[in-house]
Amino acid sequence: MSDASDVLDDIIVLVEATQPVWERLPHQEPPTGDWFGWIIEAGRGSGKSFAANMAMVEHINGPPCRKGNKPHSISLIAPTIGDAAETAGRMPGSLTDLQPGTSVVSKTGGTFVEGWPNGSIVRLLGAHTKDDQERLRAAGNRCWVHLEEFAAMRYLTEAWDQMHLGLRLGPRPHWVLTTTPKARPDYLAVVEEIEQRDDVYVTNEVSTADNPHLPESTLSFLYGKYDGTSLGGQELHGKRIEEAEGALWSYGLIEPHRLATHIVTPDEGEPYSTLGRVVVGVDPPGGATECGIVTAANILTDCLCGTDAPYPHFAVVADQSAKLSPNGWANRIVATYQEWTADLIVGEANYGGDMVESNIRTVDSSVSYENVHASRGKRIRAEPIKALYEQGRVHHVGMFSELEAEMVQWIPDESAWSPNRIDALVWALTELAESGEPALWFV
Ligand SMILES: [Zn+2]
Ligand SMILES: [Zn+2]
Repeated sequence: MSDASDVLDDIIVLVEATQPVWERLPHQEPPTGDWFGWIIEAGRGSGKSFAANMAMVEHINGPPCRKGNKPHSISLIAPTIGDAAETAGRMPGSLTDLQPGTSVVSKTGGTFVEGWPNGSIVRLLGAHTKDDQERLRAAGNRCWVHLEEFAAMRYLTEAWDQMHLGLRLGPRPHWVLTTTPKARPDYLAVVEEIEQRDDVYVTNEVSTADNPHLPESTLSFLYGKYDGTSLGGQELHGKRIEEAEGALWSYGLIEPHRLATHIVTPDEGEPYSTLGRVVVGVDPPGGATECGIVTAANILTDCLCGTDAPYPHFAVVADQSAKLSPNGWANRIVATYQEWTADLIVGEANYGGDMVESNIRTVDSSVSYENVHASRGKRIRAEPIKALYEQGRVHHVGMFSELEAEMVQWIPDESAWSPNRIDALVWALTELAESGEPALWFV
């Protein structure tokens, strides 16, 4: 006789057979003992988010942090709410994967992972907009916080501070910080201090390839993109990028003048600066290297930076550099030109002749294009641009990790690799600076 419970057993067996088994790798083991914080700095795809999710689910199913019908109150903070929802509900090894029956729910009051058997609360938060900041402040007390991709958060310091203010529920609150590191001064200021503490457990320099479950296609994509680049150590191996001794730029020249993206795109009613000329700088690839594609603009008045540095100021607005086929990069350059309604593309015609121009014109013959010639050495071209940075007149609008990694690592006359992104940047800014008011350039 077959009754309902037999059928149910069959279904359970079937479901168990088709579900992946969520098992930890050594670098995904949580700390033991009386710990407060856990930092996992790791390469992309290494399974750091899964490690944090697994630890959180175990905490929720463990001893209650408070009495009543909501034994745990938790925040998952990511660069944006969408990123948090990805970690909580969409990626393999998400919270909803690990605790069947839970789901991500958006409603008045916020976005949550609901359906925990014991009634626990997991709130999802971003760190990107003014609204996010308000929600971070209002998130209340909690016993556990996961900071996901911490180094990529726009309001990183605020997320960090707010997280601590509310972390006071239960006998032993915990935070878990997972991230691919970035050599961002505000990030380094936080982690370099906390990793010295006795109650903070550090798992670092975990590589992408340390995750044997990563699909071959993802692995080859990531290695194809980053291996052998100045950024490879960071993105693939979770190593912090160091500023190189003798590099032309330092983060100290970039960071203090960085502006949030609302300088060019209005963000919830915030003001934005009016861009003057917009120029796309292009450094064509030599062989298998990247094509540098960096877009910049001048700001002639009322820059949002509010300093009295002489005008024009300059905004670096996009870095679309990539390793692509000639047709691929030509398409990308034209798309960038159109997206920013740029006035001009400047491309380096050194040994490639006018190859860049003819490639681009194949895609769109109507673009405004000018060849530039690398008659001077890279250092001589770059130094006047560095001088603009020193004056505080160049603003990176948002983060350009790859470009900035090149800038702080490339040593003129010494580095063996070709800084394609820097070249593209220098072409764009040189065009803007020289076509502006020359008398102002070196003020
Ligand atoms: Zn708890
Ligand atoms: Zn400015």
